[in-house]
Parts: sequence; C-alpha cells; structure tokens
Amino acid sequence: MIVGMVTNRELFERAQRVIPGGVNSPVRSFGSVGGTPYFVARAEGPYVWDVEGRRYIDYVQSYGPGILGHAHPAVTEAVVEAAANGASYGAPTEREVLLAEMLCDRVPGMAWSRLTSSGTEAAMAAVRLARGATGRNKVIKFAGCYHGHSDALLAAGGSGVANQGLADSAGVTPGAVADTVVAPYNQIPAVDDGVAAVVVEPVAANMGVVAPAPGFLEGLRAACDQAGALLVFDEVITGFRLAPGGATEWFGVAPDLWCFGKVVGGGLPIGVFGGRADLMENLAPLGGVYQAGTLSGNPLATAAGLATLERLTPDAYRTLADTATRLGDGMIAVAEAAGTACTVARVGALLGVFFCDQVPCDFDQAKVAAENGVYPRVFHALLEAGVAFAPGPYEALFPSLAHTDEHIDSTVEAFAAALEK
Ligand SMILES: *Cc1c(COP(=O)(O)O)cnc(C)c1O
Repeated sequence: MIVGMVTNRELFERAQRVIPGGVNSPVRSFGSVGGTPYFVARAEGPYVWDVEGRRYIDYVQSYGPGILGHAHPAVTEAVVEAAANGASYGAPTEREVLLAEMLCDRVPGMAWSRLTSSGTEAAMAAVRLARGATGRNKVIKFAGCYHGHSDALLAAGGSGVANQGLADSAGVTPGAVADTVVAPYNQIPAVDDGVAAVVVEPVAANMGVVAPAPGFLEGLRAACDQAGALLVFDEVITGFRLAPGGATEWFGVAPDLWCFGKVVGGGLPIGVFGGRADLMENLAPLGGVYQAGTLSGNPLATAAGLATLERLTPDAYRTLADTATRLGDGMIAVAEAAGTACTVARVGALLGVFFCDQVPCDFDQAKVAAENGVYPRVFHALLEAGVAFAPGPYEALFPSLAHTDEHIDSTVEAFAAALEK
C-alpha cells in the first residue's frame, strides 16, 4: 500500500460522520455481511478497483445497469459527447424520441413510454396511472418483490429492505399502505373489482432470484382480465436483460403496463414506464394523471441508454446466457464436490445463488435460505480472493458481456476455495 493513500476504513469512518450509515443506499453498508465496505476508485469491464488499489471481478455491476461491463468505451464516449452539449435543458430532445422508439419497438405490446430518473419513480407512476385509469384503489404486490422505495410499494419488499431485517419501513403511514395487499409469490391471489393493479417482478430478483412457477404469470394475466384489473410487470431488472423484449418476450405474457430502469440507463439515472396507448393517454398533458420530472429524459442518460441498447443484440443475449450458465454450473459443481448445500436459480442471463438444497419459490423459503449464515462467510472469502458478489444474500449476480470464460473460471475457482474455508 502506498503511504498516505486513503483507506476503505478511513473513508467509511468519515462517511459515517456525515452520511447515515456511511452510504447513500442501505445495501452498500455491508450491514448484513459485516465488515467495512470497499470504496470504489474506478471500474473497467468486469473489474472494480477500490481506493486501496485492490481489484475485484465485479458481479454487482451497479445491481444490473452494467450489462456491458463498466466504462464501455462506446457508452463513455456517448456520455462525454452529450455532456459537452449541455447536461439538461428542460426541453425535449431527439434522443428521447430515439430511445422511446427503440423501447416500444423491442417490447411486444408496449406502444408508449415515458422516462423518469429512477425505477422507483417508474413504479410509483405506473401505480398512479393504473389507479387513475381504472378509478380503483387497491394494488396487489408480492412478498419479496421490490418496486423501489415509494410508500405504497415498500411493504414486504426484498433486497435492502430484507437485508436490514425490516418488514416494512417506519415513516410509512397506515393510510399510505391501506390499499396495498401483499400476497405470496407464485400463488395467484384473489383479484376483485376493487383492484386497480397487480404489480409483479416477472422473475423475482430482489429475494435472490426466484423464477415464476409455470402458469404463474399466465394466471395473473387471466385473473386481471377477469376482474378488469391491470397487470404491471416491474421489469427494472428483467427488462433488456433476459431478451430484447425482456420478460414479456421471454415468457410470452404481456402486461398492461411496464416499468424499466437499470440496464436502460447504461449506468446513468433512469427509469421508464410504458403501456398500451389507451392507458398512457391518461397521463398529463393528455389526461388527468399527473407525472413529471426536472431531469426526466436527461440528455446524458438517454445517450448512455442508447449506446447500451444498441449493443444488446440477440447474439449478446446468447453470450450473456452462456456466461451465466457457465458460472451457475461451475458453482454447483464445486459446491457438490465440497459437500456444501447450494442451488443456483437461473433464468437466461439472470442468476442467484442460495445455500440450501432446493431452489426457493417464494419469500418465506428464500428467507430461510438467505438467513442461514453461510452467505456472509462465502462473501468475505470471495472478496478476499478478489471476487465481489453483492454484500447481501437477497441480490442477484450480474455477469456482464465483459466477463469472459477466464473471469468465470477464476470466479468458480475462488468459489471452491471459499467453500473449503
Ligand atoms: C432496483 C429496482 C427498482 C428501483 O429502481 P431504482 O432505480 O433503484 O429506484 C424497482 N424495481 C425493481 C424490480 C428493482 O430491481
């Protein structure tokens, strides 16, 4: 270590004096794995380097946006060029049109879309739109699914909410969740004519990865149709990761409204919600459902998004799925050899690891697997070996197009060594 260089510990101590928990998003605090978070100095391709100069093969990839790997030259170039022309105008731009055209072209059934600055906003707006369009109040969500941190959708959220051991959040009034019904994932809930929307992650990826059981999404579609409720797919993780048309294309089930984020912004702040034209025309300025944003359609974010999506060809998805398969199969094989209970849930390029015998199918099962104490130990052993998994057992793994077979194989090797420990 170079003398005088700032250390992770030092930065974390300073951070904790001025930022709650030292972080700007709870999962990053290492609260559920223990220890000191690494502070990232830079990243490139599959790697991040911390401020102490340590290099990690990174499977966090910003929790999804880094599908091309970090700092892809085409994305960097697009952002630099955009920045030189002004970071934000408060007036429409050509790239917003190009991005909306590209999104609506790729997602089967989505006619119109609107940009926000985060997935949270997209999900919040989709719910407001569903309520406005149907004149109904109730929203059904599933335990372990995360739809951002808006009041009405935070109940029984996975990811960071689960990591912190919080069932819900303080500061959310009973009134704000009075119309939120939480149902178990992979079971068709009762949908009556008071329900505005059923909101679901088509592959749950915030309680580890939990795939939809055969018939689950089709069953939700039918239950919504029967009751006149709207089906909302929160594709903030699955969108443009499973396939060009996301989960809609992958499973062949179309919702009425979609939410996207993460991949669509290529690492810059973005969210998208979209849907059928007859629903979307309820939005201001055409209709009475209000939604807006100072930085919505931000020129830097649309530049990064377009540069990213342009590279996500059908070939790219095959490569990603192959990479995910190699990683998942490799981890299973070495776990078997080590006699460690371990399963990998994989759908396309999306995968999650559980240290148990059977792949969980809902939040209760995922919690048992996630909280058995194995994950934090494996996490730290991997980190020491230069491999960064997410600092919490409820997150998916995000191999990118920059992860080659060599990266995957050395990850599997490190995983085997971690299990030995
Ligand atoms: C990350 C995530 C969100 C929230 O997106 P932010 O950009 O963090 O606000 C919503 N839904 C799902 C499924 C997510 O994974």
